[in-house]
Amino acid sequence: MKYLIAVLLTVSIIFSGCSEQEQPQAEWALAIHGGAGTISRDMPDSLKQQYYDGLREALRIGEIVLRDGGSALDAVELVVNSLENNPLFNAGKGAVFTIDGKHELDAAIMDGSTLAAGALTGLTTVKNPISLARIVMEDSPHIFFSGVGAEQFADGTDLERVENEYFFTEVRHRQWQRSQNDDATNLEPMDEWVEGDKYGTVGAVALDMDGKLAAATSTGGMTNKQFGRVGDVPIIGSGTFANHMAAISATGWGEQIMRNVSANTIANYMEFGETSLENAMNFVLTERLNPGDGGFIAVDKDGNISMQMNSQGMYRGSINSLGERVVMIWEEE
Ligand code: ASP
Repeated sequence: MKYLIAVLLTVSIIFSGCSEQEQPQAEWALAIHGGAGTISRDMPDSLKQQYYDGLREALRIGEIVLRDGGSALDAVELVVNSLENNPLFNAGKGAVFTIDGKHELDAAIMDGSTLAAGALTGLTTVKNPISLARIVMEDSPHIFFSGVGAEQFADGTDLERVENEYFFTEVRHRQWQRSQNDDATNLEPMDEWVEGDKYGTVGAVALDMDGKLAAATSTGGMTNKQFGRVGDVPIIGSGTFANHMAAISATGWGEQIMRNVSANTIANYMEFGETSLENAMNFVLTERLNPGDGGFIAVDKDGNISMQMNSQGMYRGSINSLGERVVMIWEEE
């Protein structure tokens, strides 16, 4: 009997070992988001297509970098640049309006392999805030600059500068005009399809072939925000975080994401709770945040990707070295 049990145990160990080996791991992986919120399924197909195209284009840019052995940091910066330049998303061109009818941009980037980080809040003239965040990370002894200091730091770089009006889009302007009447930071739907833009923000997370993780997030913040309001995005550990376990980028109601130090909580729960990325993200979305607060994208050190939200939708996409590609807006499509 003892002999039989020993044989069965050995066989089951061999088989469980095999099945683990059979799961191929991605050598590199990339996930992106273009904001979470109450995204109406009634959105016209033509517009839906524009969102999908914007997400696919950003994924393609990151794919080229990672496939050729480029760094996770380069991938997330270039991907976010592409989303910042796309007026559909609330970052860079297309950023929402503050209560004063201006644009104040926040961004952060983090290198999971060194815990180096760069963050900015209250930018008004930098065309691509994520690139400035990268320069802060690499060239400055500091991590986080705000307002006038952030603009002054930008003066010392050769990054492209623009008038604040560059960020203007008709849709965001109408959204802001409506919010003036409501005196609300959180907007109700105004245009049929702007419903989805209650939140915005763009982000990218990546694992490269060297096993390094990076996260980047860029945003115009929330419509009608007060002068000087800082959201979760540039707060390292809240809206943006990367370490040896995972790289995470958030979107949604910044105050809620900050209260729960959400991105860092996901990474810590994985590490100290010895749980998967999927479980850790689900925990924060269901046990810490409230329904409708937003969502996250993340990739872990083994190339697992997780993209979850507790809002109706989140513009998102992912790709990995195994050829798995996803571009989605709602839970099921
Ligand atoms: N989290 C961003 C903020 O609160 C907004 C967003 O994700 O759209 O600034």
